[in-house]
Amino acid sequence: MDPKFEEIVKQVKVDLLTPTQEADNVKLAEQVSRSFISDTITVPTKEMYQYAMHASLGDDVYHDASTIALEAHIAQLAGKEAALFVTSGTMGNQISIRTHLQQPPYSVICDVRSHTNVYEAGGAAFFSGAYTITLTPSNGHHLTLKDIKPKVVSGSDIHSAPTRLITLENTLNGTIFPQSDILEISEYARANGILLHLDGARLWHAAAETRTPINELCAPFDSVSLCFSKGLGSPVGTCIVGSKAFIDKARWFRKMFGAGMRQTGILAGSVAYALTHNFPLLPGVHALARRLQEGLEELGVGILSPAETCMVFYDPSTIGVEYWEVVERAAAHPKPLTIPGSRLVVHIQTSPEAVEDLLSIFRVLKEEKVRAGWTPPEGIVEKVDGLKNVYVRASRPPA
Ligand SMILES: *Cc1c(COP(=O)(O)O)cnc(C)c1O
Repeated sequence: MDPKFEEIVKQVKVDLLTPTQEADNVKLAEQVSRSFISDTITVPTKEMYQYAMHASLGDDVYHDASTIALEAHIAQLAGKEAALFVTSGTMGNQISIRTHLQQPPYSVICDVRSHTNVYEAGGAAFFSGAYTITLTPSNGHHLTLKDIKPKVVSGSDIHSAPTRLITLENTLNGTIFPQSDILEISEYARANGILLHLDGARLWHAAAETRTPINELCAPFDSVSLCFSKGLGSPVGTCIVGSKAFIDKARWFRKMFGAGMRQTGILAGSVAYALTHNFPLLPGVHALARRLQEGLEELGVGILSPAETCMVFYDPSTIGVEYWEVVERAAAHPKPLTIPGSRLVVHIQTSPEAVEDLLSIFRVLKEEKVRAGWTPPEGIVEKVDGLKNVYVRASRPPA
């Protein structure tokens, strides 16, 4: 080799793998099985990559066969004309919003807690120039037509930004949006020329829990975003679905946003593996989340939002414990547990042992508090009504 070139070769090359990479990966998988932070942290398995490795090798900007096959499958599954594979759930939502909104001024209505409002860095304002109208559900659980109707801005007053789009989320914080309420909203939207987008990052969970086919859940919407890297445990990707015209335009925006990807076959293959082998695991995930909730309830821990699917929001103050005590005690366990705060997420790789270990930690903390003289507030049993995310105080039952 030319010595000057050899020098550059030396500068360019890199080995990312640690000397103990295999063991490191095993250790990470073990940590993931004991982490309640999110379902995004699940690790791709050897079996998944074994399958994905055999996928097609085309450049997806010019159309890759496995990726096209995935898009065709997801479109058919969702009962829509077409699908587009994108990098993330955020991109799925933002491209959808951008594609729907064409002639400003306009406003988008969504739940104040929704991902598009809270966790997408203000993307609807940046990419689409949209004014967002955020609503708090009056039933404390999900938006209904009753909440939405008075807030819709119609098109005649030049002071206002007409509502062109409503975005809903299912599941939201792990809770299931009743389909009957979605249908009411969609009938109203259709009758008033308003488009409807679903952030269905975790729609898989709603389908698994309510035994409703995906196409039925997607039917009321003009577009849906479906994530593969959350509950399904795929490493990368989301599909958006909608009409052919919508997806054609969305493909344009995907390119503009810099997310026209090249050899995506290995990603599409991972998604196909996840759909086939991981989706069937979700009822077990939900059962484990319910076990966690029931264990917490038995100990008297407050439940802020019950385990309708894979998440439990809890409040430990009802047993005299603070969040940080749980977090620290969990981290100090001989086999450490990772606890974020009030939200506990159960995923396809959560070990049942981790759930029992976590419950033991609550039990010990509670016993310590009682021994230190802590007693529940006088005369009342503090009960938390999770659906409304507010405390409901009930009288202590007679002794
Ligand atoms: C995670 C999530 C997203 C965004 O997905 P990313 O892949 O993290 O960008 C969108 N909507 C909901 C409901 C989510 O939970």
